[in-house]
Amino acid sequence: MYEYGDIPLNAASVISRVNMAKERAGRFEPVDIIGVTKTVDTERIKVLMSCGIQKLGENRVQELMGKYDALPGAEWHLIGQLQTNKVKYIIDKVCLIHSVDSEKLAEEISKRALKINKIQDILLEINIGNEDTKSGIDPGDAISFSEKLAAYEGIRLTGIMCVAPFVENPENNRALFRKMKQIFVDIADKNIDNVVMKHLSMGMTNDYEVAVEEGSNMVRIGTGFFGSRNHL
Ligand SMILES: *Cc1c(COP(=O)(O)O)cnc(C)c1O
Repeated sequence: MYEYGDIPLNAASVISRVNMAKERAGRFEPVDIIGVTKTVDTERIKVLMSCGIQKLGENRVQELMGKYDALPGAEWHLIGQLQTNKVKYIIDKVCLIHSVDSEKLAEEISKRALKINKIQDILLEINIGNEDTKSGIDPGDAISFSEKLAAYEGIRLTGIMCVAPFVENPENNRALFRKMKQIFVDIADKNIDNVVMKHLSMGMTNDYEVAVEEGSNMVRIGTGFFGSRNHL
């Protein structure tokens, strides 16, 4: 872990690298930067928030709940695998669920959202590298799956997300990011009712610059802000 004092420097670096990647790609629309806070204590997270990063991502329900009250003003994103029996704990706390990859989960989110009069924004997770170890749907099923999700009240599909393979050289993920962008455009072109393609959530510490060059408008950065994690 870095010292607290490194967090502002890291934040400035990530923000400027995102901006430079946008410039290289000739892009002007905003790119949301999500600070991924798994394993990070709330004091460190407050330092990050003071640097202007208010959007936070957790991949575990329990951890998100434990930090929620201590960090007013944060905008929470659930980015990891979500079990249906835990949806009820976070439905009133998150602005976006990135990791929807089954109808069963969509149905539960829909049901819980309707109960509290909320329309829950969700992303469809795509297993873009076709990795056995990763969650997400098959890229070839993205359009038909989007059409299915559109039928549920209480949820609104607002984009797609992927966790790209871990690679030493981020250039090796460029083609996959490009494929994600194409899927994003293909779904948007279908003009499905109740589907608004706004968020293309891709790019992590190791490869976010390439992701932004290829059209990501939402990057999820943990290590790049807080240093390496001991576990998870
Ligand atoms: C941990 C995690 C991240 C951030 O990973 P880093 O490499 O530390 O930036 C992003 N997305 C998901 C889904 C994660 O679980």
